[in-house]
Amino acid sequence: MAKVQLVLNAGSSSLKFQVFVDDGADVPNRIYRGLFEGLGTEPHFKVKDHEGAVVGEERWPGHGGFGFEEALAYLSDWLAAHRGGHQLTAVGHRVVHGGPNYSHAVRLTPEVIAELDALSPLAPLHQPRSMEPIRIIARRVPGLPQIAAFDTAFHHTQPEIGQLFAIPQAITDAGVKRYGFHGLSYAYLATQFPKVDARLATGRVVAAHLGSGASLCGYEAGRSVATTMGFSALDGLMMGTRCGTIDAGVVFYLQREMGMSAAEAEHFLYTKCGLLGVSGISNDMRELREKAEAEPGAQRAIDLFVYRINREFGSLVAALGGVDGFVFTAGIGENDAATRADVLNAIRWAGFELDEDANLIGAGKITRGSGPQAYVIPTDEEWTIVREMRALMSREDESRTSAA
Ligand code: ADP
Repeated sequence: MAKVQLVLNAGSSSLKFQVFVDDGADVPNRIYRGLFEGLGTEPHFKVKDHEGAVVGEERWPGHGGFGFEEALAYLSDWLAAHRGGHQLTAVGHRVVHGGPNYSHAVRLTPEVIAELDALSPLAPLHQPRSMEPIRIIARRVPGLPQIAAFDTAFHHTQPEIGQLFAIPQAITDAGVKRYGFHGLSYAYLATQFPKVDARLATGRVVAAHLGSGASLCGYEAGRSVATTMGFSALDGLMMGTRCGTIDAGVVFYLQREMGMSAAEAEHFLYTKCGLLGVSGISNDMRELREKAEAEPGAQRAIDLFVYRINREFGSLVAALGGVDGFVFTAGIGENDAATRADVLNAIRWAGFELDEDANLIGAGKITRGSGPQAYVIPTDEEWTIVREMRALMSREDESRTSAA
């Protein structure tokens, strides 16, 4: 029976997973990549092997009661029934918030789980969801090593000044500061920079993670020095359903004049705004692109999405003191040539020159000329998690050996 490590990435209605051979190799050897989507409504399971061939698919039409518990039980049975079975040696989890303390992955003990639960007020929509599969596995398979890797951790290298809000120190000390998110994705991109272009690895880069959530990260020599998300995953760019940066006065107005409670205002800004709110049509870029000619709302939403990227890009370039490269990643960044072209045309002022043919192919370098260059690099958060998990376990082994 093959020994494997499982990586889980829990979303609001999805559970992504990857399975890696536990062979100690430096480059993780992936055997399966899959997901459950439509959890709570129309669950659908699909898994591919390392060559991208679909090796399993199942639907549970109308089974609204099918959640993480059922998904994990199904996945466990599926793994037991394939390739002569698999022995799980560890599970790695994507956890949104590591708070001020965790700049690396951590082993999930009952004390650490309690500490991470206590961070829920910092990410009320995401953190409780991240913690659910951890609890389920701890109950179903007690003793199976579990680790958490954090979306915030990669941004611990931001200078202190960049993490501050202009508020009294006591409130900063209570944890109200800029953390930044999408760090597992940005950490993965940084590992690819040297392979793609040496200037990305050593220079000043802005990367755009443009998925349902969206943010930019400014890197200096592969380390995060500034990012558009801050205290919460609501800040920065316009997203599928989130507003991005908004005048705090609007939040008070929604409550005082429009009768929303604090919880309603929060729910509104996270789920009814962004591409969905502005277009009045959809949070899905594909659908907006299809309808943009006929529906002015769809085009306006796209225009604002691009305008906000340009504005925030300018702020990161100021923080970096210049820019040597740009990287697109995630659902929109990897797949939507039209958005990439719009963004590169908007940031022409920084010297980027779109290569239209290369952009239509959408892999590798998509600019030309003598200025800074832009690239498409597909992200892989689960790859970062398994690498962090292995690094943590080998640090633990080393400290056990040196203590013996
Ligand atoms: P998440 O993992 O955060 O849910 P993704 O990274 O999958 O999100 O990104 C979802 C976004 O990517 C959606 O807006 C979707 O429309 C967009 N997207 C995916 N494929 C394409 C495509 N071929 N063309 C345009 N947009 C796409």
